Amino acid sequence: MSKDIECIVIGAGVVGLAVARELAMHGLEVLVTDRAEAIGTGTSSRNSEVIHAGIYYPANSLKARLCVQGKHMLYDYCRARGVNHRQLGKLIVAADESEHDTLKGILQKANANGVKDLQWLDAKQARALEPALACTAALLSPSTGIIDSHGLMLAYQADAENAGAQFVFHCPFEHAKVLPEGGFEVSFGGKDPMTLSCDILVNAAGLQAPATAKRIDGLQPDKVPTAYLCKGSYFNLQGKAPFDHLIYPVPQKAGLGVHLTLDLGGQAKFGPDTEWVETENYDLDMSRSEGFYDAVRRYWPDLRDGALQPGYTGIRPKISAPTEPAADFVISGPGDHGLKGLVNLFGIESPGLTASMAIAQEVRHHLVDSLEKPHEPHLT
Ligand SMILES: Cc1cc2nc3c(=O)[nH]c(=O)nc-3n(C[C@H](O)[C@H](O)[C@H](O)COP(=O)(O)OP(=O)(O)OC[C@H]3O[C@@H](n4cnc5c(N)ncnc54)[C@H](O)[C@@H]3O)c2cc1C
Repeated sequence: MSKDIECIVIGAGVVGLAVARELAMHGLEVLVTDRAEAIGTGTSSRNSEVIHAGIYYPANSLKARLCVQGKHMLYDYCRARGVNHRQLGKLIVAADESEHDTLKGILQKANANGVKDLQWLDAKQARALEPALACTAALLSPSTGIIDSHGLMLAYQADAENAGAQFVFHCPFEHAKVLPEGGFEVSFGGKDPMTLSCDILVNAAGLQAPATAKRIDGLQPDKVPTAYLCKGSYFNLQGKAPFDHLIYPVPQKAGLGVHLTLDLGGQAKFGPDTEWVETENYDLDMSRSEGFYDAVRRYWPDLRDGALQPGYTGIRPKISAPTEPAADFVISGPGDHGLKGLVNLFGIESPGLTASMAIAQEVRHHLVDSLEKPHEPHLT
């Protein structure tokens, strides 16, 4: 029986938008729904806006593969579509000699991931690049950059719309059930509740992806990971940025450490730190800036008292508990859960922005067997 629409994507963050673009440009009829009033109101507008090189992730992980692949795709895309970005490079710094082995480990990991352009710098070489920096050694990553994430999302949306995709906002997913003949019946709430049938359902609901998957009747519960929320706070630096590169300490347990990033206007911010939380609340607790001063002064001793101003917060959509090693991205398709036409995206934390185009391509590959008729790509 024919369905109302071929494909529904739940969530209009950077990943849902990239997936919608990819599927629409491959000839599918796509509807994107979001419970919010616009695109990118979740994690996609609460991050560091860094194009990551692909350095830190375990070899052969999806994070490593899709970050490296996604980085190349993203730079090409930004150049082609005029999305604002800058490849300014980053330094990962050892505050003392006890951190040199960690830096060497990062170098090896990067090599294993195919990131071959890292350079080891001694303290003098590092300070020649960044005179304000305090360190005993550093790694320079030339392929790291920054991007206007909202500009990127608008470009994805425009491509998807040009290829025929439609968007509906204020449209929260409520429930789906598997139809006996295949495909899904999907119910949405909000002011104008509706029910639509589709062949393909992509769950790109970010922090809400596990909760969303739990409301798909017929999906085995053991195919849905537990969600954990790890908040990160940012503080802006008052005054001129002291560095031209992004500056990162050696990574911490649940994140990359309180690092310095620059926005495209040249303003510096520090963060994100890590705070495990129970609810999705984006309030910024000013008292957390106290921990920032010590962390930042390890690599920039000149940070003045009172120089940190309130920034913003974001929440990492974790699927590993605080005591566990960080989980990989989970792109759970029919080969994993057995339901034709369904892809769930779980744990798409950093580097999800960088990897967004590669994730979208991976989602399409998971769906190849679910597409009954060949689809002609749109040449937009
Ligand atoms: C602090 C922080 C820093 C980061 N820094 C970087 C970085 O520098 N570089 C990088 O590459 N990555 C970074 N990331 C990761 C990156 O931001 C995410 O991987 C990416 O934004 C995830 O996009 P998404 O579309 O999956 O999720 P989201 O942007 O959260 O989008 C999910 C969407 O689903 C919608 N939704 C939820 N529930 C429902 C429902 N029931 N019905 C309909 N819609 C629903 C939401 O409204 C939302 O719009 C960072 C993440 C964090 C938290």
